Amino acid sequence: MQDDSQGRFSFTMLDETCEPPPPLPRAAFRPEASPAAEVDLDCDECGAPLRWSPDEGALHCEHCNAVKEVVVRDEAILERPLSAAGEAATGLGRAVRVTECQNCGARVTFEGPSTSESCPFCGSAEVLSQEASRNAIRPESLIPLEVGRGSVEETFRRWISSLWFRPNALKRTKRVEAVGVYVPAWTFDAAVHSDWSAQSGTYYWVRETYTTRINGKRQVRSRRVRKVRWWPSWGQRDDHHDDRLVIASRGIDEDLAGSLGDFSTEGLVPYEPSFLAGWRAEEYQVDLEEGWRRGQRMIEELQRERCADDVPGDTHRSLSVRNTFRDVRWKHVLLPMWSVTYDFRGRSYAVLINGQTGRIAGRAPYSWVKIALAVLGGLLALTGAAVLARHAG
Ligand SMILES: [Zn+2]
Ligand SMILES: [Zn+2]
Repeated sequence: MQDDSQGRFSFTMLDETCEPPPPLPRAAFRPEASPAAEVDLDCDECGAPLRWSPDEGALHCEHCNAVKEVVVRDEAILERPLSAAGEAATGLGRAVRVTECQNCGARVTFEGPSTSESCPFCGSAEVLSQEASRNAIRPESLIPLEVGRGSVEETFRRWISSLWFRPNALKRTKRVEAVGVYVPAWTFDAAVHSDWSAQSGTYYWVRETYTTRINGKRQVRSRRVRKVRWWPSWGQRDDHHDDRLVIASRGIDEDLAGSLGDFSTEGLVPYEPSFLAGWRAEEYQVDLEEGWRRGQRMIEELQRERCADDVPGDTHRSLSVRNTFRDVRWKHVLLPMWSVTYDFRGRSYAVLINGQTGRIAGRAPYSWVKIALAVLGGLLALTGAAVLARHAG
């Protein structure tokens, strides 16, 4: 596997001949209801609930400070063919409830008796407590949360004081909620055979004469003009896509998530309910069928770009690409993020932190007074320069 969301692609040339994939039965996307066994995560010493600690990389008891290692299964992470969704385990393997946000629609797990949870993504307090879906496909793997609460607060404070043109009061903002939350995603692998056809164009130059008027007199001039000679071209290519990521969240702000940087899929470990202990996880709202539709579109766009690069000639037009997919495999993964919301003058703002790398992306209000002063300052500087120039001249 490799992290290919940085625009690096892995592709291998396949020399087998391609056959169109068999049509998928619609029911293939629906997992059968077979919730996996649920585990209890209580402290062996005192019985208090344990919590996954990013700082210790282990389960931690906040009551007696006992630490318990998480045994990660030493096995390859399964990537299933699309036709085998029914074989996937379901449920999170823990007795949890979810809050369903009436504002953004995110369904996020929570533990314990608390009933006054707010939505970790939009900060809305309008949430309904519900049973977690036992039929949802269980994550095959996850990237454990590595960024702890301490560094989240520090990152947030540093970020907010580094912004320009913001109200001064923003730096003193008190009501900040930081929630560690696992965000659901699908990854897809696929082999693709692309047949393309296009019209390739070769540039050539001709000299054309034209008449113009110079000082009222007609004159004949000549100039070089670029023309294109078109000719038909066609070709084919085979590529392999690995771990194309489709975010399956509803709560997350997609623009913010896009600026969060990459998750390295090398950090994936087989799913263990222990990693979720004490943290929240969003149930996927983009199901496998819709996820694959998005993944397929993403791959098709990439294939089109690659075919466009293959077309010979100086330019091309009427590119048409036909893709045949083979050996499509998927897995359901959880990505660690910190969702930070803060209130400022009665409005809630969202900030996301990549729970693997600590990178931050967020929204913050502007101070229009500061912007107006800056513009005014700029104008004064310009006027001043003009006055100086006049004096100098
Ligand atoms: Zn304990
Ligand atoms: Zn919400």
